[in-house]
Amino acid sequence: MIMTKKEQFKVLETHYQGCLKYWLEQGEDAIVAMMYALEDIKRIRSNPFSLKYEPIPPEIIQEVVGKYSKSITKVIQSTYVGKLNSDDDDHIRRCVICGKPMKEGYYLGGEYACSDDCTLALYNGDEKQMYIDLHHADEDGGECYWIAWESYYL
Ligand SMILES: [Zn+2]
Repeated sequence: MIMTKKEQFKVLETHYQGCLKYWLEQGEDAIVAMMYALEDIKRIRSNPFSLKYEPIPPEIIQEVVGKYSKSITKVIQSTYVGKLNSDDDDHIRRCVICGKPMKEGYYLGGEYACSDDCTLALYNGDEKQMYIDLHHADEDGGECYWIAWESYYL
């Protein structure tokens, strides 16, 4: 009997949940367990619950892997920001160097940097120029300054 596409999805999802549970029971961190379970799914070639050989096509596996990769990304992001409750990532202000979401940090002529280190990286290590720019922050038309916002969103 050939499984329908829907049944193949179900099999992979069930297997993913089973693997996830296993890795969590091994004491793995939630994100690590999700990544391991995803790797387990990638290795599937046929229905793991059947003794008969019931192949699962790579494109179905790819689709399920894509779906779970997205949810892992979301978990990572929400862990990072703590209170991030929107999945609309395009509207989050991020450090141009390290990608960290920012609620406060340096504004540098149109770009954002979260820390002194990232700012220095943005200046390619030119500490002198960075110092000059930041010390002209109070002047009219100053393009570089420290700023805090209400939220992580633009
Ligand atoms: Zn940064």
